[in-house]
Formats: sequence, structure tokens, C-alpha cells
Amino acid sequence: MDAFKDGGDGLSQKDELEVVYTLDKLVAEFEKRDVRVIFANLHFWAGVLFSLKENWFCYINSRFPLKTQKWTLGHELGHFILHHDSASLFTDGVFPCAEADAEWQANRFAAELLLPKRLVLRILDELSVDNLKKVFKISQKFDVPIDAAAWWLRELNLISSKAYQYFLSAYREV
Ligand SMILES: [Zn+2]
Repeated sequence: MDAFKDGGDGLSQKDELEVVYTLDKLVAEFEKRDVRVIFANLHFWAGVLFSLKENWFCYINSRFPLKTQKWTLGHELGHFILHHDSASLFTDGVFPCAEADAEWQANRFAAELLLPKRLVLRILDELSVDNLKKVFKISQKFDVPIDAAAWWLRELNLISSKAYQYFLSAYREV
């Protein structure tokens, strides 16, 4: 994606983070594809994507923190782009870390938009920190849920599986 191409060394970290997808930019991606995004107070799900009479809708639970809404939007955009031919309803909890292929693919899609590997590496490069600090740092810097950050750092092999298990069992954030 050319938005993420290396802009040379002139860019400060702040400028670089501005190329990462924001909530508004994600909404615009849905709109470009004629998917209506609705922020609503949902009883349970973090996000629901479905088609009704040939129209697609994406509901995002507005009760959750903005970083959770943003992650969920990225995940649902992944479902729409990768899977809309194979299903017409996707329901997702706060951090859908299921290992089913479609869920993994949607998470990976969200991570590539919201936590580009090149920027993650650059930020971690500047610190020699332990696993837990890495996760907190990435979550805070990119404004994504802790468990999403932990999952992606594990996928990139940047934290140990023991640290990831710790996050799964001991730390859950909405
Ligand atoms: Zn999903």
C-alpha cells in the first residue's frame, strides 16, 4: 500500500504515525465500497457486518472505547474485502482472537492497516524493553486495544509466547 511506503529519513515518528489508518479513514474505506457504517449502542457485539437485500451494513458498538471501535472497523473491513463472497453475516466480540482462518485473516488485515510492521519495528527499535512494556508501548502509540497489540507482536515474533499467554489470561481490555 503506497500510504505506507518508506518516506525516507526526513519523516519524524509523529508524521509517520499519521499515515496509519484512523477511524475516519476506515469509515471512508467502507463508504467507497457502498457499505454503510453505523455507530450504535449494541447489546453485546463489538461489530456486526451483514448484507440485507444486496446492501451491506457495518454496525460498530459505540459503547466501547474508540481504540476498540477502530480495531473492530479494521477487522470488519477485512471481512468485507476478503470474505464478502463467502458469507453475509459476520459477528465479532471485543477482540476476536479465534484461530479460525477467516478471523485470523481479518485480524491480520486490521493489523496491517493499524500496526504496520515497519513502524512497529522502528518504535521497538528505540527501546530495549521487556515483553510487557513492548505490548503497552505499541498499544499506546498506535491507539489499539492491548490484546490486539499483544496478538500482533506475537504474530511478528516480537514477544514470547509465554508473554502472549499472559496477556490472554490476565489482561483483557475493552
Ligand atoms: Zn471476525
